[in-house]
Amino acid sequence: MTDCIFCRIAAGELPANIAYEDEDVIAFHDLEPQAPTHVLVIPRQHLSTLLDADTGHTLLLGKLQLAAIEIARQLSLDKEGFRVVTNCLAGAGQSVFHVHVHLLGGRAFSWPPG
Ligand code: AMP
Repeated sequence: MTDCIFCRIAAGELPANIAYEDEDVIAFHDLEPQAPTHVLVIPRQHLSTLLDADTGHTLLLGKLQLAAIEIARQLSLDKEGFRVVTNCLAGAGQSVFHVHVHLLGGRAFSWPPG
């Protein structure tokens, strides 16, 4: 989608600090980090929200999680821990309507989240 900023990052049309990429997934550092490490993992395929996913996306959703775990290892978050979260719809805090996983680490996290 040409009006989706994350599609444009995936296409290389907008700059991003890339942390990881493969044929299905790309990950980049968040512009406004909420933790010392804050990486966004996105599918190259446009899905607006998690609600657009169906059984045809099972592998892709798994790849997002596995990429986040691999990046966490690469960034040495696998000792202290990290958080992986996806906001779905504005009421949950979603502001960019292209599915993405937030990988957050480098500080303590409280529960329940705000
Ligand atoms: P969410 O609010 O869950 O939809 O998360 C969207 C995230 O995208 C926010 O944490 C923003 O700071 C981040 N963001 C928005 N535009 C960009 C961009 N061009 N590059 C990197 N991160 C971005």
